[in-house]
Amino acid sequence: MNIALIAHDAKKELMVQFCIAYCGILSRHTLCATGTTGKLVSEATGLDIVRYLSGSQGGDQQITARIACDEIDLLLFFRDPMTAKSSEPNDMDMLRLCDIRGIPVATNIATAEVLIHGLERGDLDWRNIVNPRNR
Ligand code: PGA
Repeated sequence: MNIALIAHDAKKELMVQFCIAYCGILSRHTLCATGTTGKLVSEATGLDIVRYLSGSQGGDQQITARIACDEIDLLLFFRDPMTAKSSEPNDMDMLRLCDIRGIPVATNIATAEVLIHGLERGDLDWRNIVNPRNR
């Protein structure tokens, strides 16, 4: 499965801890991330991660484009709900495309835990039918 990781600044440490905890599961999938998130996670875990531009430079839009092309099977997007972001419209567009494509998305760690366990159990295997690149 293709998994995309994004964390706003206030949630980056949480994302790192999450990825350390679930490194074993994540290592069996193809990972991509926005620039800084990917750098921090790969440094902490050794996971192989395709890194796009930093979010502020358009990395989130690069991931959005992959979502639009149905190339992402799971999005873990740890958002900071407390700080207003200039990227808010882009974030909403990304989530909208996930809804259009039926892509599982977690915007907080509680949902991410449920999804990662579901992923491990095979609950998301239907994505292999939707996304022929996974076959
Ligand atoms: P970053 O991007 O991982 O490059 O910081 C995420 C964000 O938009 O905050």
